[in-house]
Amino acid sequence: MASAWAIAGCFAVGLALAGISRLHPLMVEAHEAEQLSAGAFPTLELNTGPRSRLSHRKNWLGKVRLAEHTEILVLAGHADSQAMAGAGTPGDAVDNQGAMPMQDGMRDELYWNLLTAQRIVLLGRQRGLNIRFYDPAAEDPALRSILDGEDPRTNWSVGRRHSEQGGYALEIHYDAYGDHGFGSGVIPRVRFGQTVVDEALAAEFGAFPSDFRGVLGAPERGITMLEIGKLEGELEHSLRDPATRDAALNTIADRVVRTIATALGIPQPQFATTVSPPLPLASPSGRPDGLPYPSAASGDAG
Ligand SMILES: [Zn+2]
Repeated sequence: MASAWAIAGCFAVGLALAGISRLHPLMVEAHEAEQLSAGAFPTLELNTGPRSRLSHRKNWLGKVRLAEHTEILVLAGHADSQAMAGAGTPGDAVDNQGAMPMQDGMRDELYWNLLTAQRIVLLGRQRGLNIRFYDPAAEDPALRSILDGEDPRTNWSVGRRHSEQGGYALEIHYDAYGDHGFGSGVIPRVRFGQTVVDEALAAEFGAFPSDFRGVLGAPERGITMLEIGKLEGELEHSLRDPATRDAALNTIADRVVRTIATALGIPQPQFATTVSPPLPLASPSGRPDGLPYPSAASGDAG
């Protein structure tokens, strides 16, 4: 039920891109797309689907305050657990519509978790956040599968150390499609207590109870999880369609960064954007292979 929204802005991305010295192979595509956009920051109207159906069971209140310059660590969910239990959702397109995975050897959820996390960091830096990305397999593809969760290189271990040192760790996820998933929302960190950033993200995306599934491994270690939405319908189509992918990632990242920055009290003028008129809700029907799709009906398919 996340309301459709549209924001268009114009931000230079070239400088920030130049600051990324080691691009993950997965970034090549997005990198090229951004070069093509030549300094523009295209966004689109994007319905991320239903909010968590457990939002009414939110049993926590984020009160821990964080300083404006608090270092934010962004992680991609399942980045260290491919080809094993807990690899993430394949998504509706692959499981039910005969689509090919976005990348061999990787669940689609991780593919989008990586691109989304990287875009959040890129945009966050442009807007003055102290924010960075960690990928266990950035230098060694073998680290896509780390069997021991307590290995010092896992998301869990790196995120736990970050929170212990006073930072804020956020792990990006997409939820399962249909009845397997719950919708967009925050599964807040338990260790070190919920923060004002968790509270703001929950207001924006929805919430899960803090003891969801008996307290998950990440929240137990001080890492907040954010489900962007179920990997299905309009959200998945917008990401998979090369014509809308870049704008979809921008739109999602903008929403996350704006929410975090506001919660940290970072001055608003840095976030001034031009709000575009709403796009028409009805569009020509199409298919998930890159052609237009009906934007109003497909987002709530689960
Ligand atoms: Zn996940």
